[in-house]
Amino acid sequence: METVVVRMRDGIDEAGIRRAGEILRRGGLVAFPTETVYGLGADALDEKASAKIYQAKGRPSDNPLIVHIADWDAIGKIAVDIPAEAKLLADAFWPGPLTMILKKSDAVPLATTGGLDTVAVRLPGHEVARALIRAGGGYVAAPSANTSGRPSPTTAEHVAQDMDGVIDMIIDGGDVEIGLESTIIDLTDGTPTILRPGYISREMLGRVLGEVEVDRALTSEDVNLRPKAPGMKYRHYAPKAQLFIVQGPQRQVRERINAMTEANAAKGQRTGVIGTDESQAFYANAVVKSIGSRQDEGSIARHLYGILREFDESDVSVIYSEAFDTPQMGQAIMNRLIKAAGHQIIAV
Ligand code: AMP
Ligand code: MG
Repeated sequence: METVVVRMRDGIDEAGIRRAGEILRRGGLVAFPTETVYGLGADALDEKASAKIYQAKGRPSDNPLIVHIADWDAIGKIAVDIPAEAKLLADAFWPGPLTMILKKSDAVPLATTGGLDTVAVRLPGHEVARALIRAGGGYVAAPSANTSGRPSPTTAEHVAQDMDGVIDMIIDGGDVEIGLESTIIDLTDGTPTILRPGYISREMLGRVLGEVEVDRALTSEDVNLRPKAPGMKYRHYAPKAQLFIVQGPQRQVRERINAMTEANAAKGQRTGVIGTDESQAFYANAVVKSIGSRQDEGSIARHLYGILREFDESDVSVIYSEAFDTPQMGQAIMNRLIKAAGHQIIAV
């Protein structure tokens, strides 16, 4: 199939949105920008359309989709027994990068929720996303618009790398703002619990709700603990090269990376390094990429997935990354980086 690309970098193009909305209403697939990453959208209430998302991504069928809405009032059709916390969180963080797990209504097909009786709901901050959702009927299931297992797309070019010829349309909204997927909070099971860390931190949620827990599977080394978000159990974001995180005091990290790079060079192996604006000049004999500045954690979050994709274009066989335990998004950044590295961490 031919994938049409419609440019909306400078805001909403009404004709383009109408066309995209028609594709969704017909059961087709449209990739679109959100403030977190690019989403791959289909009509969430149409099980055949949802099934197409799984097929296009090669996504395991037990990994449920997030349903995107454009207005708070839309929530009543897809969720039941909505707790008071949901409205408090919506008032504080919607439109924005927060997904809530609620009990689903019969309107949502099990194909969309991976067989679960709960539904993940988000009201995104990006105006193009909200216009598309309205044009498409109000309920758009959208996981990240990447092939399953690859880094999530943060530009329309990334989407095209994975989805050109596979989906009906890509809306190009330029670079995304945040670069990491939404925070997911479960409101169906006792104390509100974070199932996936994101831009909205535990502290920010705690200020609205009081007590907030974090799914133990996210922080524990126990591999037998099953994450409550089915998608969190899969290896994700993995670059083709072997990725290691080197963690410790910054000077020691730099020295260790340089020593390992030398050793690799002696074996004829090319090394990649993920450093920062502050550290990149210290690395030698490697393909060095700066992820951003430690003074601006948003820049680190924004560039993480793009850098992992860039390394797939180079001929390095090993990549060493510094660790980025930044104040607000550190948990989210490290959660994604550790998955990308398949938990290979070198402590110095
Ligand atoms: P993605 O949209 O690709 O970033 O992935 C969506 C994430 O939301 C996955 O980790 C899913 O497992 C999670 N998710 C979606 N619906 C639910 C649900 N009903 N309960 C728990 N996790 C969910
Ligand atoms: Mg994803």
